[in-house]
Amino acid sequence: MKYDYDVVIIGGGLAGLTAALHLAKNKYNVLVIEKNQYPNHKVCGEYVSNEVVPYLDSLGIALPSAGAASINHLLLSTTDGNHLKAELPLGGQGISRYTLDDILYNEALSNEVDFLFEDAAQVLFKYSFFEVVTGFSKSITSRIVIGAYGKRSTLDKKLNRRFIATKSSWMAVKSHYEYSDFPKSQVALHNFQGGYGGLSKTESGAVNFCYLASYESFKKEKNIESFNSHVVAQNPFLKEFLANAKPLFEQPLTIAQISFEPKSIVENHLLMCGDSAGLIHPLCGNGMAMAIHSAKIAAECIHDFFTNGSENRQVLERRYLKQWQKAFKKRLWYGRQLQRLLLLPKLSSYALSLIIKYPAIINKIIKATHGQPL
Ligand SMILES: Cc1cc2nc3c(=O)[nH]c(=O)nc-3n(C[C@H](O)[C@H](O)[C@H](O)COP(=O)(O)OP(=O)(O)OC[C@H]3O[C@@H](n4cnc5c(N)ncnc54)[C@H](O)[C@@H]3O)c2cc1C
Repeated sequence: MKYDYDVVIIGGGLAGLTAALHLAKNKYNVLVIEKNQYPNHKVCGEYVSNEVVPYLDSLGIALPSAGAASINHLLLSTTDGNHLKAELPLGGQGISRYTLDDILYNEALSNEVDFLFEDAAQVLFKYSFFEVVTGFSKSITSRIVIGAYGKRSTLDKKLNRRFIATKSSWMAVKSHYEYSDFPKSQVALHNFQGGYGGLSKTESGAVNFCYLASYESFKKEKNIESFNSHVVAQNPFLKEFLANAKPLFEQPLTIAQISFEPKSIVENHLLMCGDSAGLIHPLCGNGMAMAIHSAKIAAECIHDFFTNGSENRQVLERRYLKQWQKAFKKRLWYGRQLQRLLLLPKLSSYALSLIIKYPAIINKIIKATHGQPL
């Protein structure tokens, strides 16, 4: 039987685009199904760990030449303004998703990846191949499907994934600001009651301010403006920022129902990549690197599947699961513990004072939640 594609990728965010590019460079016939056009802004802290820079270079994506801000130190503060500054051992790049996803998209196009701008509505596994059906009833067949559709999608319901049944109590807000006083080499993480926010510069010189908050704390206020002035601005660093920074978006972007629950890595034979496989707490600043890294693992396993002669799907799925868990399982666990600590005001102040006294702890935390350069 002839299939339309070797690989169909559902979702053209970081994980989907990276996997598409990697596979296309190995001469596979790849289709990305993405529901939105490029470029577009996404809710994200926009700090990319340097661990993925060498791998992105190898795919022809050079972040520094896209104007990314080189970031090498961290400012961390608690709600009461207790704070510390620390060097980041590996550091990262400040680049907007608007630019980063668009660069990857254009590179994928140059490498002959096909794109279909529709909603993937259904995926059916038919023993040796897949049929993906879009919202406009287009039907596409392929040998492999990668699920790279992010944190939450109607597909999760259709696939009956376990995490979707648990209500999530997290939401996020993001906007770009003009604020020249913010150091280009810094990423800041500021705590407030029921959440925390990250600040860092992007390639355009704008400062990205993105925060995660619990519904519990948000619902007491009527809207973002009121939440910002009554809750977020309790942190003196954020108060100063909100008072002096000029918003560059007409309205902040928001997302809801953010789940940090463990997810299945292979679901109905789809290889899940990026946030579709699991989302690390944003305070670790590592979700984008994990999305890119998981795409690399998936692309390598798929290459092996097609070249080892047997095309054994069970071996492919086992290998992907094993390599994914080896790379990310511990990081996700540490991320969950850190988040718990940060959101208990008394404990987070105590933990921060400990870190101020023993700054080596911060390197240990970063090591536990980040990987080695790829
Ligand atoms: C508040 C917050 C702050 C963060 N800050 C950082 C940070 O500073 N650094 C960091 O490294 N990580 C951060 N992260 C994590 C990071 O944003 C994610 O880990 C990363 O975006 C994952 O990429 P992805 O490709 O898996 O998903 P996405 O980038 O979300 O891409 C998924 C794509 O799938 C598409 N899609 C969805 N459903 C369908 C469908 N049915 N059909 C077709 N297309 C579909 C979507 O349109 C989207 O383009 C943060 C996350 C949050 C919530």
